[in-house]
Amino acid sequence: ERINLSEIVLGVIDQYKLSDTHHVLLVDEAHNSEVEADKDKIIQVLTNLLSNAIKFSPNSQEIKVLLHNEPDRIVVRIQDQGLGIPKDQIGQLFQKFRRVDNSASKKIGGTGLGLAICKEIIEKQKGSIGIESAEGEGTTVWFSLPIHRSASSRHEEEWSRWGADKEAKPNVMIVED
Ligand code: ATP
Ligand code: MG
Repeated sequence: ERINLSEIVLGVIDQYKLSDTHHVLLVDEAHNSEVEADKDKIIQVLTNLLSNAIKFSPNSQEIKVLLHNEPDRIVVRIQDQGLGIPKDQIGQLFQKFRRVDNSASKKIGGTGLGLAICKEIIEKQKGSIGIESAEGEGTTVWFSLPIHRSASSRHEEEWSRWGADKEAKPNVMIVED
């Protein structure tokens, strides 16, 4: 289904504002946030990532959610100033049941499934996901999804492809408006 990611992010953040001690700031710089994706699954990803940012920021540090476009895709970053992740463990956290192995992180509950589920969902929707973090400073989890190509831009592209082909296939009849 075709969804507007900016709207969905805003909706999920609003839910958190009602219930939580953490301030979540949205910085939406995307000019095109139409994606072709399963709305409920994307809500699940955002909820997982925001709940991680919140629970691993034990001093109620502010959380930022940033949206911007890159060619053909939209990138969402969930940025916290919480515990952070030791460098040698970042790469493994998308595996099921994997959790940071230190006392501060272990004190905070969880089964270690959230990130594995997020990765599975995002990759199924043809996107990618990653983590950047510095221990003691904070963590940014980002994901990107391909932008929905509107009917008009698809149309344009089709035309230019036909154009390039015309010499080679002079008998092709173009029936278009
Ligand atoms: P679940 O999501 O299943 O309730 P969980 O939150 O422990 O449990 P994941 O969401 O998969 O599991 O995260 C895996 C581990 O990665 C966490 O236990 C934590 O150690 C680390 N982690 C994830 N997000 C952050 C974050 N924003 N800051 C610091 N550590 C994080
Ligand atoms: Mg989690």
